[in-house]
Amino acid sequence: MAKYLLEHDRPNCIGCGACAAVCPKFWEMNDDGKSDIKGGKPRKDEWQELEIDEKDFETNREAAESCPVNVIHIKNKETGEKII
Ligand code: SF4
Repeated sequence: MAKYLLEHDRPNCIGCGACAAVCPKFWEMNDDGKSDIKGGKPRKDEWQELEIDEKDFETNREAAESCPVNVIHIKNKETGEKII
């Protein structure tokens, strides 16, 4: 069962490309200049989200740490705790 929720505050993404370079399995650049979570679900607030497993936590944590404007977040799904 997926343990984490990966979130992207897409409206505030500046399109630097770091996440897609660090973690191309989960992140790609869109034609509009911003990044997308591959297979991510769009939300009403224009963020995207995707449930991820423990094995995919580290690579997405690296993507989040590479983001200069901190618009990538990871939450513990069970507790709701924001990890990054
Ligand atoms: S690293 Fe952050 S600002 Fe850069 S493209 Fe990815 S989400 Fe957007």
